[in-house]
Amino acid sequence: MFKKRDIIPRTGPTMQSLSWQEQLAQAIRQPNDLLEYVGLMAGSIGYSHKAIAQFPIRVPHVFANRIKQNDPNDPILRQVFPYIDEDHEVSGYIKDPLAESGVQPVKGLLQKYESRVLSITTAACAIHCRYCFRRHFPYQESTASSQHWKTAIEYIRADKSIHEVILSGGDPLTLSDRRLTEICSALASIKHIKRIRFHTRLPIVLPDRINSTLLKILTDTDKSIVFVIHSNHANELDDDVSTSISLLQRFGILVLNQSVLLKGVNDTVTSLINLSERLVENNVVPYYLHLLDPVAGAAHYETSTEHAIALINEMQASVSGYLVPKLVREEIDGTSKTLI
Ligand SMILES: *Cc1c(COP(=O)(O)O)cnc(C)c1O
Ligand code: SF4
Repeated sequence: MFKKRDIIPRTGPTMQSLSWQEQLAQAIRQPNDLLEYVGLMAGSIGYSHKAIAQFPIRVPHVFANRIKQNDPNDPILRQVFPYIDEDHEVSGYIKDPLAESGVQPVKGLLQKYESRVLSITTAACAIHCRYCFRRHFPYQESTASSQHWKTAIEYIRADKSIHEVILSGGDPLTLSDRRLTEICSALASIKHIKRIRFHTRLPIVLPDRINSTLLKILTDTDKSIVFVIHSNHANELDDDVSTSISLLQRFGILVLNQSVLLKGVNDTVTSLINLSERLVENNVVPYYLHLLDPVAGAAHYETSTEHAIALINEMQASVSGYLVPKLVREEIDGTSKTLI
């Protein structure tokens, strides 16, 4: 599976001369720049000025390269383009659909389910997915920044029922290596923590983040490391992504994928099966398929629950069981994700 070479280059899987930080700094930030980059005319798709003022567009070039040229309906483009539909107010679509502001015992720590906590390590992401359920999240008040981190660690140390810490955000892999070292070594010093889990889209959208320094940090701890990556369409998984995933796996990291069911992106059986096939080709297990969270500005991605169930049933009837992700919805008071 690990095809390109046996030595991990300093800069990572794509062999570009730009570091992942430079690639991130140069990411596409204007809707018309994105359209032109994929061969469409500036202005050919209308966009919401209001929405990008609140949640700007951000697309690294390595990710934009996987968008088909001249195709306004491309499934990757559709995930990142700020359509005018974002302006439509739709009842039920709100800013904090999961009421996350109410479940933080310590700033930046969400404790909703037994035996695991989720840490909002940063507000930053390498990409801005337009359907993101945390697009309005009050990060300034709720990030486990360096100051709050100490309190969070003490909280985790004191609660022996916590066996796993999920590093989320934002995207935890946008943090510097120094900060990640701090976080991982603090967690490694807590006996009752068995696993450190990363919820990250970087192996997909910026594969060069999986470089030798990161792999060293991840393998310096004796805790198990789990990665839950996030991809929604088979076209996202190119050879550079395969390389970043196989690097993680070679270092003993379990890699799972979660997706969101999105109208016009992956709401057909063929598309979901192709995604699962491509994931399993990369030894990645499809873990969850989430129903869209009703976050303001994302209603145009909604598919009905009935359609979602029909899709899963059709998948179940045509492919190996482990290619079928669990269809779930996140509910405010659930003791876990709710299986549909
Ligand atoms: C999704 C989520 C988890 C993880 O749930 P798993 O079913 O273990 O993947 C944990 N905490 C919070 C707050 C979550 O939203
Ligand atoms: S990577 Fe995740 S947290 Fe970041 S914008 Fe996309 S869905 Fe939201």
